[in-house]
Amino acid sequence: DALNQSLAELTDIDVSFEFFPPKTEQMEKTLWKSVERLAPLKPAYMSVTYGANSGERDRTHQVVKRIHQETGIPAAPHLTCVDASKEELRQIAKDYWDSGIRHIVALRGDLPPGVSKTEMFAAELVELLKEVADFNVSVAAYPEKHPEAPNSQFDLLNLRRKAQAGATEAITQFFFDTSVFLRFRDRAAAAGIDLDIVPGVLPVTNYHTLLKFAGFTNVHIPGWLHRTFDGLNKDDQTTRNLLGANIALDMVKVLAKEGVKHFHFYTLNRCELSYAICHMLGKREQSAIEPPALLRKI
Ligand code: FAD
Repeated sequence: DALNQSLAELTDIDVSFEFFPPKTEQMEKTLWKSVERLAPLKPAYMSVTYGANSGERDRTHQVVKRIHQETGIPAAPHLTCVDASKEELRQIAKDYWDSGIRHIVALRGDLPPGVSKTEMFAAELVELLKEVADFNVSVAAYPEKHPEAPNSQFDLLNLRRKAQAGATEAITQFFFDTSVFLRFRDRAAAAGIDLDIVPGVLPVTNYHTLLKFAGFTNVHIPGWLHRTFDGLNKDDQTTRNLLGANIALDMVKVLAKEGVKHFHFYTLNRCELSYAICHMLGKREQSAIEPPALLRKI
């Protein structure tokens, strides 16, 4: 009851949505249907991932440009530095700035197979971007520690370096144990990290894909989550969606009660679950709220 009551009192929640560049015509349709459905909720921004291989940068840019032009929602490309020279990165940043992009999600990117060292980390990329122009920069954070970091404290100090380099927001890796996020937020505050720590929410629609993701991201899947999906027919998308929505709804209720004001959704280019969760968080389409507001004025 207390959780639902605190939700009813919410007024000023921000949301943002993450998409990835589609690879097929069918995926392209799904993406734009989702963008169209979610844009009227007026998210703070929509971000587009970037795969560290040639060709994807252009696709990221195309999707970002189209979101920006067609929805008017601020669009934020992800940019990785693992596979590019400083000169290339400066040029990309200049091009983004010249085409009106003001927000970048700055990442190192995963190391290519067989590579164990990199010259640049995300903190250096943030610094480089801020030298090019006054971008609004988001970075990644890992409540359960980045897999390569020797320990949590090392990883936290890395986050502090990213903040000191000029980032203003950290989007977390997805997680399922809300207390892990809350402890991480406390530890970041205690370490003097002056960043908005935004929980990355992954509404689970495919348990098997989730297991794959969790394996290489160091994300703990609690026993209750395994039990939730255990034995469910893979083709039963409706039940999977209901269960996935229920899990995410429970999480955001707890986080909202703990004062979280911004949620970032890993949409995987699907809109249904994210839309439902946003609705519960009090987000309404502009067209749905404008008429009553107008009537009140009359
Ligand atoms: P960093 O902050 O540079 O950290 C990487 C590792 O190096 C950490 O273990 C850190 O502790 C360690 N480290 C940092 N500095 C040093 C140093 N000086 N010496 C030694 N160790 C150091 N990947 C993509 O390819 N494309 C995307 O679009 C993308 N989007 C993402 C969005 C979010 C919100 C998140 C959470 C992740 C995303 N990723 C993406 C994955 C990300 O690129 C990987 O997790 C990557 O391995 C680390 O990136 P980072 O920016 O966190 O790196």
